[in-house]
This record gives sequence, C-alpha cells and structure tokens, in this order.
Amino acid sequence: MDLLSSLRGDAADRPESVRVGEERLSRGELLAAAGAVARRIAGAPAVAVYASPSLATVVGVVGGLLAGVPVVPIAPDSGASELAHVLTDSGAAVLLAGAREAATLGAPWTECGVQLLPVAVSERGEVPSGPVPAEDATALILYTSGTTGVPKGVPVTGRAITADLDALAEAWAWTEQDTLVHGLPLFHVHGLVLGVLGALRTGSRLVHTVRPTPEAYAKAAGSLYFGVPTVWSRVAADAPSAKALSGARLLVSGSAALPAPVFTRLHELTGHRPAERYGMTETLITVAARAHDPARRPGVVGRPLAGIETRLVDGAGAAVAWDGASVGSLQLCGPTVFEGYLRRPDATAAAFTEDGWFRTGDMAVLEPDGTHRIVGRASTDLIKSGGYRIGAGEVENALLAHPAVREAAVVGAPDEDLGQRIVAYVVAEDVTERELIDLVARELSAHKRPRSVVFLDALPRNAMGKVRKDRLG
Ligand code: ATP
Ligand code: MG
Repeated sequence: MDLLSSLRGDAADRPESVRVGEERLSRGELLAAAGAVARRIAGAPAVAVYASPSLATVVGVVGGLLAGVPVVPIAPDSGASELAHVLTDSGAAVLLAGAREAATLGAPWTECGVQLLPVAVSERGEVPSGPVPAEDATALILYTSGTTGVPKGVPVTGRAITADLDALAEAWAWTEQDTLVHGLPLFHVHGLVLGVLGALRTGSRLVHTVRPTPEAYAKAAGSLYFGVPTVWSRVAADAPSAKALSGARLLVSGSAALPAPVFTRLHELTGHRPAERYGMTETLITVAARAHDPARRPGVVGRPLAGIETRLVDGAGAAVAWDGASVGSLQLCGPTVFEGYLRRPDATAAAFTEDGWFRTGDMAVLEPDGTHRIVGRASTDLIKSGGYRIGAGEVENALLAHPAVREAAVVGAPDEDLGQRIVAYVVAEDVTERELIDLVARELSAHKRPRSVVFLDALPRNAMGKVRKDRLG
C-alpha cells in the first residue's frame, strides 16, 4: 500500500493513538488536524516544519504528506545560517510551527523570509481525498546529521519509506498491537520516519516522551522502544528505570554504534538483548537485527532487510571476504536507496559506484552467517598506526569496559613516526591515563593502546548523539 493510503487508512482508532508528552490525539483527530493543514498548504513547492518534539510537528508533517507537498523538518535549535541554507536549498515557501510556539518564536525563525503558518492541533478539517502522489515523488526532504561536513539534503520518496517500514515491520514483528516509545528528534530518519510514520503505518500506538530520559522511558510502559546509544547508555546506568523495561518486547538501538558494555548491562537489567540496526539518511534503514533472532550479539547490526543487497570492497574496489575478520568499505543497493542529493551533483556522483551501488562511507566486517558488524566511518574511525589498521570502536569498547569510564572516543592524530597516533578522549573519574593505556594494551594488544588519554567533561555530540570526531584533536 502506498504511504498516503496507509496514513488515511482504517488502522485501529484509539483515544490515544499518538501521544507527545501530555498531549494526545486519536488517529481520527490527527488526520482531521492534518487535513486542515493540508488544505492551507496545497500547491506549495515544499513545506518546512519547525520540528520541535511536539504533537504539532506530527500534525504538520502528516499535513504536508496528505497535501502531497515535500516536507522539510528542521531542527528547532537551528541557527540563522543553517536555517537559511535549508530553506533556500529545499525551496520551502511555508513554515509550519505549533500555534503556541509560533507566537513565541524568535529570530531567526521570524526573520527567515518564508510565510509562518501556525498549526493548531485542535483544528479539524477534511482529509484530502484526491489522487495520491506518485510513489516516486519526494515525500520528505531530510538533511544528513552533518557529522562529517555540511548537512546534505536528501529527497526521500514515498516508495522508499513504505519499502523500509514494511521491511522493518517484518523484521521486528511490529504490529498494531505494539506501543512504540521513544523521545528522539523529529527531524531525522530515526525519530520521524521510523518513530512517527512507522507507528502510523503499522497502526501501533505512539508515545513520544519529549525528552528521552530513563525515567520517561520507564514510565511509558511500551512494548517497542527506540533509542540512540546515548539514551541506552543512560538507561543502563539507571537500574530501576532499566528494570521497568523488562516487560517490553523489543529494545532497538541505532544511529551510532552501541558500545558492547551498554549492550551487556541492558541485557542484565532488562532480560532483553537490544536489537541494533544500521542505516543512514540516504538509504533509510538497510540492515537490522531481527526480533526473533536469539543470537543478537554486541556489535552486530544484523542482516540486510528485504530487497537490500550489501557488499564489501577494498580501496581498489575488489571484493573483501565475508570471513568475520576482514574490514572493507560497505556498499549497498536496493529499493530504499535515494537517487541523489539535493543540488549537490558533485556529492551525488561521488556517492555511487559505476555499477550503481551506494558507497556508505562506513567500514564493516561481514560474518560468514551474513550478519554485519559496522566498525566505523572510513573518514574518522579507521586508524592507520605503525603499519597496523585499527578500528577506533574496538579501542573505545575496551576503554568503556572500565567501570570509571562513562564515554570514550578514539581518534588517529597525525604522527611523524607512526603515521597516526591513537589518542583517546574519555569522560571518566578516579582513573589515571596510565591505567587506561595499560588496560587497552592488556585487553587488546600493545599496538592498539592509546599513546595519550585526554580527560573531558563531555564528548562533543550532535543532536543524534553522534560524536563529532572532527572537533577532537
Ligand atoms: P553526514 O553524512 O552529514 O556526515 P551522518 O552520516 O552522521 O552525517 P546520518 O545519515 O544521520 O548522518 O547518519 C548515518 C551514519 O550513522 C552512518 O553512515 C553510520 O556511520 C552511522 N550509524 C547509523 N547506525 C549505526 C549503527 N547501528 N552502528 C554504527 N554506526 C551507525
Ligand atoms: Mg553520512
């Protein structure tokens, strides 16, 4: 079924189909409120949404989809130049924001030059019944997280969204019986495509906690939970909240690597092995651990979803063995892969191989059983030191195994002798540099030990909890 038909469709209506914090709407009310939005924006070239964690954001996004207008969700903490870039780049002519928020928005939002339309979640309008947009029309324009540079605009089609959500529903046995709980930002794939459109397409209840705190997750009593590793690490550090999740069905982690010690601790406290999944804005989610796979292990993000093919290549483009040890660049193709960046022909050309496979930029190891391990980004996480190739994640996990270490990020710093020198940035108390260096040398091997350890109050992260390694060193 196409995306719009599933939104308009006859999924079970409940008084609380969608809840964000204390605000709630039945599915019928959500559609009616979105219908009112759709009528006001019909014919716009694209519609921007002030994507705060609010019910108005959900109504605004669904309204844009019902109107067949590409929706551009924008981070509420965007600064003036980022906002100007996204609005110009996407061609949005209208900006939707919740009625209460719209009244109090400051610059840059009030000075961005596009028409501000307040969204009232209590408004009711008729759901447009016209023909559904072509499935390969752009439904959303999402921006990459900007971990490695300026965020790039990615047009996402209805077809890619439905292919992804249906594959995930199958992988996670996700149905209308579920209550999905998360508190993720509503302007990226994770929180918006999976976390909102996934709930609407499967017909499950959605509880968005506004803030992704362990207490809020514990209180929400869901069956399916989504989180980024930072969220899971906080849950794992809060035993009473973690134990409250033992009644859930599935805990899902993604957007960055889940540290092995967090996986293990969550398993101990909740009785559940978290299911990791891997994806990116350009491809949506492509690889995922399955709900029914009892062998979910730390560091393993599972197998490709239905319709997705993956391969590993070396620097020269030759195939790398699926032997559980060889590291290669991950490439993939399938129905959820985008066609190209918005107004970035250079980046688009660089992203695809001659035979049409997408270069993810991530390094992976494939196990003989077809499961995937993501070992980091080629640009920052593969350290070449003294003739060795060392994955930053392995060293980070070794450091995190020390009870005093709360966060760790390992980078390669330029070094005349070694090429690159391993430097560890940690958030830790009551432990010395020497102890941590010795720990890695003992647990891994001498050549993988950091040459220095820098103690920080917090690691630099972006909105998705991804470490900004470009800001270290
Ligand atoms: P930019 O492309 O602007 O530099 P970004 O790549 O962080 O930013 P996203 O598209 O939001 O933007 O994130 C995709 C990336 O997130 C992947 O390429 C991968 O590096 C990382 N990622 C996602 N899921 C996982 C996972 N389960 N394990 C490890 N890394 C992951
Ligand atoms: Mg990227």
